[in-house]
Amino acid sequence: MSTDDDGVNTICPYCGVGCGLSLESGEAAGDVTIKPWFDAPVNEGALCVKGGASTEVVAHEDRLTSPLIREDGALREATWDEALEHVVDELERIRDTYGPDATGFFASSKVMNEENYLLQKLARRYGTNNVDNCTRMCHASTVYTLRNSLGAGAMTNSMADLRDHGDVLWIQGANPAEQHVIAHSHYFRQAARDGATLIQIDPHANKTTKDVDRHLQLEPGTDIPLLNVVLETILEEGRLDEAFVAERTRGIDHLKATLADFDAEAAAETCGVPLEDIREAARIYAEAGNAAIFTGMGMSQHRCGVDNVQNEVNLALLTGNIGRPGTGVNPLRGQNNVQGTCDVGAMPNVLPGYREVDDDEARSSVEDVWGFEIPSEPGLTNVEISNASGDSVHGLYVVGENPVMSEPDATEVETRLSDLEFLVVQDIFMTDTAEFADVVLPATSWAERGGTVTNTDRRVQLMRPATDVPGNTRHDLEILCEVGTRLFGDAAGFDFDGPEAVFEELTAVAPIYHGLSYERLGREGVQWPCYEPGDEGDQYLYAETFDTNDGRGVIRGVRHTEPAEGPDEEYPLVLTTARLEEHYNTGTMSTRSPTLRRRTPENFVDIHPEDAADRGIEDGDYVRLRSRRGEIVLKASVTEDIKAGSVWTTPHFSDARANTITNDVLDPLAKIPEYKAAAAAVERVEDG
Ligand code: SF4
Repeated sequence: MSTDDDGVNTICPYCGVGCGLSLESGEAAGDVTIKPWFDAPVNEGALCVKGGASTEVVAHEDRLTSPLIREDGALREATWDEALEHVVDELERIRDTYGPDATGFFASSKVMNEENYLLQKLARRYGTNNVDNCTRMCHASTVYTLRNSLGAGAMTNSMADLRDHGDVLWIQGANPAEQHVIAHSHYFRQAARDGATLIQIDPHANKTTKDVDRHLQLEPGTDIPLLNVVLETILEEGRLDEAFVAERTRGIDHLKATLADFDAEAAAETCGVPLEDIREAARIYAEAGNAAIFTGMGMSQHRCGVDNVQNEVNLALLTGNIGRPGTGVNPLRGQNNVQGTCDVGAMPNVLPGYREVDDDEARSSVEDVWGFEIPSEPGLTNVEISNASGDSVHGLYVVGENPVMSEPDATEVETRLSDLEFLVVQDIFMTDTAEFADVVLPATSWAERGGTVTNTDRRVQLMRPATDVPGNTRHDLEILCEVGTRLFGDAAGFDFDGPEAVFEELTAVAPIYHGLSYERLGREGVQWPCYEPGDEGDQYLYAETFDTNDGRGVIRGVRHTEPAEGPDEEYPLVLTTARLEEHYNTGTMSTRSPTLRRRTPENFVDIHPEDAADRGIEDGDYVRLRSRRGEIVLKASVTEDIKAGSVWTTPHFSDARANTITNDVLDPLAKIPEYKAAAAAVERVEDG
């Protein structure tokens, strides 16, 4: 146990920044308080309001403390033996009746690398690649593009080198002041104080806007035409880095051909941003010594998410802004371990370390360690698993995820989950999804267990247990070991005596983690790739070459794809969504925190004053927000932060569930849903 300032050093359970904190424990299980960890590598003791309130849910009265089994339509308490036997019997029955691909497995970015590693191993031992995680909802398109065009599905650079060397920070579809608070306050705002220029591209004025030099407030879903104006300006005015393009990239001719008949004036009109403002931003980026792109879910969560991010890659490659400190294309990852959940192979198409599951050589090298055959066909993504539930999918094993809240068209998700023959949910609270479960397994919280998590800039860090396990709960790792051993036998490779032993096996099968060990991680952590023991890890990637087949970065021109649903007479507005500083994703933890709930107690929708006046809506009125998929009732916030014609809400609140009305259309390659644009209508609730 590593201690500092009389506490146990661990990592905040919320966002991907990966802030360190110190926990001091009292006598009772769950009695933990936070003290600063002053030399924590990422945050030097600072925490945002969410991290500071993170212990409030550890001993919450709603914690699940006993396994539950559904009987005669209701959940009743059960012993662990009874619950685990039921899980194993049902998984075996479904596999024997329909085959292994009739079951899906949802991993979780709220749990450790070791636990996600074990879950994907369990799925593959069971005989299916139907395993996925919530990156499908946030950055699947970013990961897809970065892997295919540069080499690794992760931030190219680090928060520290961006602060110290970035001259221009181009922030598109991201709101770090709200969603990655310490990254913004400690790194990006510091860069601005040191003279960097911050340019924001976002349909919604937000907390980040206060700190930027320029805000291009575009219409939702028009990022491609905006970036095409930027690229065309750079090409037309000869501001590209010709040597870099010639020596380190391929595809420039495709980009030029794509832009050959480009009408910049029409594109700017589509974006709703003056042409000269876009051109001026392009010049500032292109002329910078070091320019870095930050990309968020405003880019990734579109049916053209892959193309959106590709256009950011085009911009970085065209100007040579990649492969050195202060540059690159940098996704700000959502949850505290969403990067790690992908790294360890909890995705349907890749094995640990991002090696393709249909690559015979990669599969064979993992099979040598695991001792069983891995299915070679990529599996279904989580949205595809939900959509197939009741048809080709009959069983679902959910660890720490909440698809009834997190997936688009949520009412349809509820219907689909009801059609399953067997659903097991492993979590710390009774979630909206667990309400549909046949078995609920109570797991331990972040303060009660150890393991590793990987933050947004690829830093693998140790989490450490600070308090006892409450009630009749068990660690996710223990539960998965038990299920695996009961399903496949004692010698099947699920008999580990703790997270460190699992991590050792992970490092054997994931080349980017190969040089890591718990001892090596120590207090600072290590930024992957770390191929050999002794490697120090990399603050930034691609100094010499890209990890593509020919070592070149891929430029590929892209054209505008409109959102699948445009406004019409019946639904005249465009709905977009994003997270708040005070709450987190499906709100399972944050809405139970008294401090966070006090600050933002309920959901709301931002409406422009003109749209509000047209409908007789005043600030604070309750309104009905509708789409083709359903409706929710929530408070109106009348504000000029949003453009006329658009409305904006948050996904955190179960009683006004935004994903009831979002669109489930997917990007064809990354299969990420288009959360960021749906046709909607709003009206005042007369009796509200
Ligand atoms: Fe936790 Fe993220 Fe806040 Fe840091 S910025 S304290 S990791 S929620």
